[in-house]
Amino acid sequence: MNCELVMIGSELLLGQIVDTNASYMARRLAEIGLDLYHKTTVGDNLQRLVAVLNLAVGRSDVVITSGGLGPTEDDLTREAVAEAVGVGLKFHQELLDEIEAKFSSRGLVMSPNNRKQAFLPRGATVLRNPFGTAPAFVVESDSGAVICLPGVPGELKRIMEAEVLPYLSRKFVPGGAVIVSRELKASAVGESTVDQEIGDLIRTSSNPTVGILAKAGEISIRITAKAEDQDAASCMLDDMESRVRERVGDRVFGKDDETLNGAVADLLLSKRKTLCVVETGTGGAVAQMLVATNSPYTLGFEVLPQKSSVEAFLLSTGAERDETIMTDPQALAERLAEAARAKYRADAALAVLEATRLGFARSRVLVCSRDDEYLRDVGLKGCDSWSQQRLAMVALEMTRRFLLRTAPSE
Ligand code: ATP
Repeated sequence: MNCELVMIGSELLLGQIVDTNASYMARRLAEIGLDLYHKTTVGDNLQRLVAVLNLAVGRSDVVITSGGLGPTEDDLTREAVAEAVGVGLKFHQELLDEIEAKFSSRGLVMSPNNRKQAFLPRGATVLRNPFGTAPAFVVESDSGAVICLPGVPGELKRIMEAEVLPYLSRKFVPGGAVIVSRELKASAVGESTVDQEIGDLIRTSSNPTVGILAKAGEISIRITAKAEDQDAASCMLDDMESRVRERVGDRVFGKDDETLNGAVADLLLSKRKTLCVVETGTGGAVAQMLVATNSPYTLGFEVLPQKSSVEAFLLSTGAERDETIMTDPQALAERLAEAARAKYRADAALAVLEATRLGFARSRVLVCSRDDEYLRDVGLKGCDSWSQQRLAMVALEMTRRFLLRTAPSE
């Protein structure tokens, strides 16, 4: 059995709203084991909508539409579905009464154009929509079903959960297969290497499948298994996860909801090490991410927007004025990290120096403790939020690597 989504609304095509309904429905359909092969977005135009529905009905067992069920001129889903499945529209007095009752219960008078919503394709079964006025419905045929849901996300979700998913599981998922995904997250340092390391798994595995996606500062490796139940799917995912981990090694820092900053916080806890951060030209991106972890092991943050604040910080820690240090990235990173480590009495310090703000050729990241040091030149520079985020991710990844090789405190 396979499924297809038809997302209706010109504002989706104009980019005025983000299609959250599609991602929600795709995820839920996978979870009950229905294959989704196609998704089309179409505007509020009857001819194009009918064409899209004709194609969808012809190639998919279940077609689910979102949007276009309202009372206005551009709400065309009812007419288009009737035409695509070759039936007329039928007026339902009981639906009109219900819509009218919903208006009057809110102290409103129903406008005449709501009458339109009481027309459904002949043979349609109504799906209850307690939160809205637009009736949702299913039209069944010998080969499958067309299910029409309102575009308002809260209403769509409520009807999906209460009516559509149980209906689909009963009717279209014999044996109740499930599709379960797991995401392994790896640091983006060495992105192309990850691709090489698991390229054959991506190409040759069909169940579970393995896919790779680069995000800002991290690589997401998604493993998806289809099985008769959750336990069987979990076993398949475990097996593939170990194969991926064997190759990618400790560049995997977490999975699913886990984050790189969370991984750093976990390591600080397990190694019982305290950390402080001094950063320049990053808009405090590293501090923000570490503050979000609520870790009691992060002792202090110095966010120094420009050269003058770097100098002021050094002077405040008792360092003598030294013009030459401002032109030497290595020496400056060391001096800042040491000053911050002393100020906060931390075991380790992370210093992040963004290049453009300080007039260096390359940005620099240094993590150091009393007896170890990890330094890196980074090609990333720029003070826009994307560059700052990327640099912050590199800095967190370096801190994670530094902590991995650090022996725990007694
Ligand atoms: P109603 O009559 O209740 O408005 P409808 O079925 O006619 O329902 P639309 O008019 O297409 O739905 O959309 C209503 C609102 O729902 C849109 O203005 C938009 O805010 C939101 N919406 C529509 N489609 C989507 C979508 N695919 N993802 C997220 N939000 C959506």
